[in-house]
Amino acid sequence: MFKYDSIEQYHTELRNGTTSCEEAVTFYLEQIQVHQHLNAFVHVFAEEALETARSQDAARKAGAPLPSLHGVVIAIKDVIAYKDHPLSAASNILKGFKSIYNATAVTKLLDAGAIIIGTTNCDEFAMGSTNEHSAFGKVLNGIDPTKVPGGSSGGSAVAVQMDCCMVSLGSDTGGSVRQPADFCGIVGLKPTYGRISRYGLIAYASSFDQIGIFSKNIPDNALVLEVISGPDEFDSTAHTEAPEAYSKALKAPGKPLKIAYFKEAIESPALDPEIAGRLRELFSRLEKDGHQLCPVSFEYLDYIVPTYYILTTAEASSNLSRFDGVKYGFRHVDKKNDLNEFYCQTRSKGFGWEVKKRIMLGSFVLSSGYYDAYFTRAQQVRRLLVDKTNLIFNQFDALVLPNAPSTAFPIGEKSDDPIAMYLADIFTVFSNLTGVPGISLPLFWHSNGLPFGVQVMTNRFSELSLLQLSNQWMAAYKDSKQ
Ligand code: GLN
Repeated sequence: MFKYDSIEQYHTELRNGTTSCEEAVTFYLEQIQVHQHLNAFVHVFAEEALETARSQDAARKAGAPLPSLHGVVIAIKDVIAYKDHPLSAASNILKGFKSIYNATAVTKLLDAGAIIIGTTNCDEFAMGSTNEHSAFGKVLNGIDPTKVPGGSSGGSAVAVQMDCCMVSLGSDTGGSVRQPADFCGIVGLKPTYGRISRYGLIAYASSFDQIGIFSKNIPDNALVLEVISGPDEFDSTAHTEAPEAYSKALKAPGKPLKIAYFKEAIESPALDPEIAGRLRELFSRLEKDGHQLCPVSFEYLDYIVPTYYILTTAEASSNLSRFDGVKYGFRHVDKKNDLNEFYCQTRSKGFGWEVKKRIMLGSFVLSSGYYDAYFTRAQQVRRLLVDKTNLIFNQFDALVLPNAPSTAFPIGEKSDDPIAMYLADIFTVFSNLTGVPGISLPLFWHSNGLPFGVQVMTNRFSELSLLQLSNQWMAAYKDSKQ
């Protein structure tokens, strides 16, 4: 039977002839079938994936050199454009729409030999923390189907969690890769803002959005990052320097690190005491292993969630104005010859409630009477946070935080309490507000039987050191229970 451990091991077996890309794709298609009830996928490209696998097997057997993601089976979140394939952001407003071009990340995956097996479910327009807001229905956590998988990239997380693909892509605007990774017990990386081109990623909040990577181990994550990042003439915010060869430099000898953590975060009454306890224990182990752990006071903790929701809803209200029934997919025509009525009905019927709420909130904070009171002030707070981040990374190599206040919670638990739902983003939005890279490492199991991780951040564009320390921590501090 096909068994997967890492891209490296898979490639060794392909070279030895002990497995094939077709065998891999067949295995994952079966897994997708077995876990269909979790609702992680919205489209599965079965025939196409098998065909690609067969042609890759033939090329390899004919002696062609193996590109770096040869035969690697990947799923992508339904917000990332894949030419001639359905793209809907899990929204009815894009019903029936097919992308006419590839996202840059997708072009790079395909050029490197990856096989895209399907698109994954998510919260509509990536707005949410539970994957309960999707036109395709909710996604269930594979470890305990009564619990949410996290969101918004819940489908991508469950796809990796339940071995329905090797690696998957999500998007992270305020935690949508790190938090579902945390709830599902896998690795989730949000790179530096600008590390991966956003061309072809459906925009939620453009100054926050970043494509992220789910995997079960660090070497796979590093390799995919290396392939899909880099400058892009189609995205002026993409970093202009070529990415480093992360996957080749992972095993650099560990040096003692200066690591900061926010005192207020670890002491927060909102944080599950067992999560706080395990993080403290991790800090002691790190200290024993020669690293320096320092509490840093973070006086802005209470401001980050409001700041995030003011700025992201403002950007969303503008970004989503393009979905008007004229340019894409769905339209609702009731009254003829009334354009305003046409826009209004299309948008009222096409968008789900959470998205409409955020468009209204965003329009409110941008309205002339409230712009200064909300939008301008939130921008000022963002500036303070960036200054604080610069100070921290002048002194420290890494910053450690929890990912979420709790482990995965029951489906429906926070549905009627949007404020509680938004507040649960408290630990992840910081890295999007400031642009730094963050990773969720699945180190722990809670006594309630669910996994959780630790969130680590480094300075902007310091993914290499982030991945190096992640690789070491996964080997040294991961709970053995599986
Ligand atoms: N939970 C956050 C929100 O709803 C994050 C979403 C995301 O990162 N896409 O905005």
